[in-house]
Amino acid sequence: MSFKEFHLHPSIESAIRRIGYNEPTPIQHQAIPLILHGKDLTGLAQTGTGKTAAFVLPILDRLLAVPHRQPRVLILAPTRELAEQTHEAIGVPGRDTGLKSVTVYGGVSKDPQIQKLRAGAEIIVACPGRLLDLADQGVIPFSDLKILVIDEADRMLDMGFMPDIRKIVKRLPATRQTLLFSATMPEDIQKLATAILHEPVVIRAGEGKPASTVAHAVYPVEPHLKTSLLMKLIERTKTESILVFTRTKHRTTSVAAKMKRAGFAVASLQGDLSQNRRQDAIAGFRDGKYRILVATDIAARGIDITRISHVINYDMPDTVEAFTHRIGRAGRAEKTGDAFTLATPQDRPLLSSIESVLGKQIERRILEGFDYATPAPSGIRPAGSTRSFNACGSLNRLPGRCPDVQGARSHGHKPASNGARNAPRSLDGFPRQLRSARAK
Ligand code: AMP
Repeated sequence: MSFKEFHLHPSIESAIRRIGYNEPTPIQHQAIPLILHGKDLTGLAQTGTGKTAAFVLPILDRLLAVPHRQPRVLILAPTRELAEQTHEAIGVPGRDTGLKSVTVYGGVSKDPQIQKLRAGAEIIVACPGRLLDLADQGVIPFSDLKILVIDEADRMLDMGFMPDIRKIVKRLPATRQTLLFSATMPEDIQKLATAILHEPVVIRAGEGKPASTVAHAVYPVEPHLKTSLLMKLIERTKTESILVFTRTKHRTTSVAAKMKRAGFAVASLQGDLSQNRRQDAIAGFRDGKYRILVATDIAARGIDITRISHVINYDMPDTVEAFTHRIGRAGRAEKTGDAFTLATPQDRPLLSSIESVLGKQIERRILEGFDYATPAPSGIRPAGSTRSFNACGSLNRLPGRCPDVQGARSHGHKPASNGARNAPRSLDGFPRQLRSARAK
């Protein structure tokens, strides 16, 4: 199917050609006609499916029919990075249509945002806190608002934005079109949808699973060896840009600093950085100055760089949802990517949950030649040291062959096997089902 079938305004069609989209993605195929017809929508869509264009393109089309320069559309995003990303996604077709958007988020001065709002724009892309702040100052007229988009609603929930969202919704005209996008549909999001959407059509793309264009591998490792394994892994792997996720701000900074000292072109991104430093890190990562970006989950939200060939989970994420979001950063749209996860013995339960969502076991790999036997510096007791498992991620005492030995692709990366030299020696096994299968 082609974009022609939507009968979009010629200026939007020409913008689509200029951007280079050949055909709609599945979510666009479903959402665009519904949005053009003014329907409310719940879109269950993971990142990387083309969901931003799925709402931006028909919204621009609808806006062309109304007088310009009054806020008609409000797009709520959980982070400033996602707000900027969406603003940019509007900017390209916006140039052809003459429609404008402004971003509104905290952490930067209010004045430029107020000036841009006063200058007039049809679309506001905002994070909830600053939006409420400016609305309280009377800077944002909501009276002509026609469309509300809540993007990455589950993330908004995680970040505690639900009360703000409800406050915002109360200020909007009751007659409006509302679109809600979320990678997952926890109960609180369902309740919100019931409260603020009118007879919504529910569409799904990807069923909340990590993007299918991404190949996964787990590298079992003891905690004290993670940074050296990460660096060796990157040295040995053919990559474009690499996004490395860590769990804490402190670790983001320390891992990036160690990598920098070792000569890697690396930047770090975490919530404590000033907006300028964040933008420098993202811009440098996007234009290739930094091949590697080490980031926390929140900081990496909304990063849309098609050259990201690898996402590496230095730390496991806290939830299956966060895993899905992280992995969505690689393999965007038609590109493919790899997702490597460094997993310690403590990560076993979450890894099992992720595997059950994926519906398959993730391949375990060892990095050939890496010295897994290096002891922890004195005073640090290796986590999980009371148990041991082999490179398959199974208990050492279990005999037999690894069940998942096929498919290691990059050179120097071996599927884990019992006989592997330098294999991790004292890692507690993860998948319970693997253990019991092998024990039979
Ligand atoms: P999103 O899911 O909105 O974060 O989009 C992920 C990526 O897909 C972005 O880089 C978009 O530019 C790209 N994209 C969106 N729609 C299409 C399309 N129809 N064809 C190819 N790429 C697309």
